[in-house]
Amino acid sequence: MHELPFWKQKKLHQLNDSEWESLCDGCGRCCLHKLEDIDSNELCFTNIACKLLDLNDCRCTQYEDRFKWIPDCISLRQDLNQTIHWLPGTCAYRFIFEGKDLPAWHPLVSGNKDSVENAGISIKHFAQSENAVNDNYQNHIIDDC
Ligand code: SF4
Ligand code: SF4
Repeated sequence: MHELPFWKQKKLHQLNDSEWESLCDGCGRCCLHKLEDIDSNELCFTNIACKLLDLNDCRCTQYEDRFKWIPDCISLRQDLNQTIHWLPGTCAYRFIFEGKDLPAWHPLVSGNKDSVENAGISIKHFAQSENAVNDNYQNHIIDDC
């Protein structure tokens, strides 16, 4: 009988560092700017990425020092319950937090790091840096996050 993979055996707070890191698929969606409706608290994602995100590899260019530049960036692992709702519905941490399995395109399931991009989950092909945006962020709302 096959042993269940770690994400089906453990809660997020039980993961070791290596397991925790491997859950991140590198999609970059958490680094998109979001708008919140002040009446309904509904969260809308835009296609505008944080200025520190490298759009070629969807990685933060200042990860260790990011709070120096972007004080309101989140620390998911430290503030899990308070910040999980800020993540997109496609995020592996949300899937596990909500007791769901990982999708077929997640690299831990597919065994292929390119499957995130092939499935259209990576922001590589639709995001633009906030440095390149001059109009109202409301014009950049997307509805598939
Ligand atoms: S949205 Fe989730 S899976 Fe995607 S880069 Fe952010 S933390 Fe990683
Ligand atoms: S500071 Fe880095 S981790 Fe935080 S939103 Fe910007 S690019 Fe993403």
